[in-house]
Amino acid sequence: MTVVRNIQVKLDVPADAHSVLDATFEQFREAAQYVADYGWADDPCDITTDQRVLNAATYDEVRAQTDLHSNHVQSARRLAAEALANSQDRLFEGATTSKPTFRGSVVVYGHRTITYNDEHCTLATVDGRVRADYVTPADETGTPFEEYWDREEWERKEATLHKRNGEYYLHVAIEKEPETDVSTVENGVVLGVDLNVDGSLAVTSTGQFLGNADLLNHKRREYERRRGRLQQTGTRSAHLTIQRVGNRFGRWSDDYLHRVSKAIVQEARQHDCAAIAFEDLTNICERISSASKFQQWAFRTIQQYTEYKAEEHGILVATVAPAYTSQRCSHSTCGFTHEHNRDGDEFECLECGKELHADYNAARNIGWRLLQGWHTSGPGGADCQVALKSGTLHANGEFTPATDTGGQSGSPLTSPPL
Ligand SMILES: [Zn+2]
Repeated sequence: MTVVRNIQVKLDVPADAHSVLDATFEQFREAAQYVADYGWADDPCDITTDQRVLNAATYDEVRAQTDLHSNHVQSARRLAAEALANSQDRLFEGATTSKPTFRGSVVVYGHRTITYNDEHCTLATVDGRVRADYVTPADETGTPFEEYWDREEWERKEATLHKRNGEYYLHVAIEKEPETDVSTVENGVVLGVDLNVDGSLAVTSTGQFLGNADLLNHKRREYERRRGRLQQTGTRSAHLTIQRVGNRFGRWSDDYLHRVSKAIVQEARQHDCAAIAFEDLTNICERISSASKFQQWAFRTIQQYTEYKAEEHGILVATVAPAYTSQRCSHSTCGFTHEHNRDGDEFECLECGKELHADYNAARNIGWRLLQGWHTSGPGGADCQVALKSGTLHANGEFTPATDTGGQSGSPLTSPPL
């Protein structure tokens, strides 16, 4: 993965440019607040976090009300969407929080609103561009400037402009390509993981059924019913009970998702996997119409926790395009794809007759898809494999049986208590 660092650079802004930068701060703040106001709702399920929905609903108004560069309008919207999503997560976790409020002086700059030159940058404002010189230490020895700023391998990316005590500072994200040899990962074994709104929460390409989505949904509904009853009561003590019940549910669900993620990483380690593949969750609303905001949050959280835990063991977490993973036959080189292959939990290939649990089949396809991406894009990816229940499947469709059954031991979450 790309290495990212942040560096703070003081800017020398000409005095006559201060007012236009200050106006940019204020209009950027107003734009973010306008989007947050639009997206906010008291019920976390009704908070709008979808970037496209927010964009469609607010872009024209914000453009009309401000003189911001169109990319600043986008950045302000993205900032508001992230703040809304964070608030929503906290509410789902049972914490109390209120509508995001934007204060202070911050503007987000991207490649179309900032240009980095050797000694200065130019910044888009509400009235044209402003030039600002970098103020770097006279002696850069041992500073981040020596280490990152002046080194060509570090690329300057997005930045945020801040104003403190009358001075302007740029916080710049700088990126470097990793030094670790990605080709070793791309020759490794992949664990595919399918996440589900019912049945088992996560199913792996090695045939592990982890966690219980029905239990999670059941607990969530129980919590919502109880909250509804208490809200009708409307007393102060009922309000406090709502908080307590919410906190308890939040802790329980958070812990549950942690355990599922841990079991996924354990499974990857048992099979010596170099990578774990999930489906890309963008546009999940459209794909799984029955997926509630809560289930989407649960999926997102599992992926985040898994990535966090996998990193410690040097295991890569990647996502693949979700199309047809449930309709494609994952058996050997078959690959026959048809919507009638799947009937609920059962998968039976209309071409080769292979029968598999539908989620297990999907998990194998998810692993397979990452493998194919590596195989076609990376040099020397020919030996990458998907970890299956009893062996590994190579990119060319060949199957290698496992030499030992070390990966078959049950996981603590295989049969969760209900
Ligand atoms: Zn088939």
